[in-house]
Amino acid sequence: MKVEQILAELVRLDSVSARSNVEIVSYLAARMEALGLCARMFPYRDAAGVKKFNLICVPPQVDADRMEVELALVGHTDTVPFDPAWADALTLTEREGKLYGRGACDTKGFIAAALTAIRHVRLTNLRRPLALVFTADEEVGCLGAKQLAETRALGARYAIVGEPTSLQPMRAGKGYCLAEVRVGGREGHSAYPALGASAIFRAARLIARIETVAEALKEQQHAAFDPPYTTLNVGIINGGTAKNIIAGECRFTLEWRPIPGQAATHAFELIQAEVESLRATEADFDCRLEILRLDDAMETSADSPLVRELETLSGQTASTVAFGTEAPQLIEMGAEAAVVFGPGQIRTAHRTGEFVPADELNTCVEILARAIQKFCQ
Ligand SMILES: [Zn+2]
Repeated sequence: MKVEQILAELVRLDSVSARSNVEIVSYLAARMEALGLCARMFPYRDAAGVKKFNLICVPPQVDADRMEVELALVGHTDTVPFDPAWADALTLTEREGKLYGRGACDTKGFIAAALTAIRHVRLTNLRRPLALVFTADEEVGCLGAKQLAETRALGARYAIVGEPTSLQPMRAGKGYCLAEVRVGGREGHSAYPALGASAIFRAARLIARIETVAEALKEQQHAAFDPPYTTLNVGIINGGTAKNIIAGECRFTLEWRPIPGQAATHAFELIQAEVESLRATEADFDCRLEILRLDDAMETSADSPLVRELETLSGQTASTVAFGTEAPQLIEMGAEAAVVFGPGQIRTAHRTGEFVPADELNTCVEILARAIQKFCQ
């Protein structure tokens, strides 16, 4: 079966993150077992109680309790939702060398390429074993990969994490962190400010300080990124109930993207120190910060054999990604090197009319086949 046909079958299986991914993992497990691999499911329930599955496929000689492999090809099975008006979202459609469909680019293209590439190698005869890893819930915070990292079931020396990078190896990525800040005040009639305490004025004082933290964060730089420092954003703010009431509460989001080499908590600690300093001057400064997400940055050395090999095979110099991926979880699971790599462009992902170029898809098959030969044979 050609890579385009496999991709068409994968696109047909609706695997939007909110649904169970049972259909697509069952399809993948059946294909892997037909090739002589052992398919192991790692089920869990998501926050809404929906059953999700991570799937790891390895040659039968690999120890089931702790699957140690040389190379893992990792692809997430879920996709972002699609507009119901996109009639062909689940029907792979080719136009002028581009293959359109939800997930075609992010990341079923990579999965189809991996499934095709492994047919070029004798899987059960490899000197160093290969694993195929299929995860759930990547698009909603890499939740499947985080579950898998907790099980400690897999240890891969090298990992190729599928994401659309136009076949450019990406060896580092910023982290992703999010917190919610709630500032409290005391409501009162706005004609008598002394009777209350405005949560919005308080939040404004804090946010002004957060802006100076954002400036200070520019001092620590990582030259491989653009921009080369940890960025900070207050994306949403809500507060108050009426124009003539002193605001009793103000909430805002705080998002930061740490560079590799800096603790994910660093920016948060700087902001906490600002809150403490405001408290020192206003005894009743009421403020609560809650971390909602704390995903580390990741970096694989430019000299890693995996980076070098993918550079040679793709003819492209390794770079860095600004978006979140499952690479940090693979590093957490013990990988010495993780590289993000795959066909299609991240700019076309997540859009109606998402596509993967057919030539890139086929080149990806060749590159993955050669990488498997290089590291596993
Ligand atoms: Zn993706």
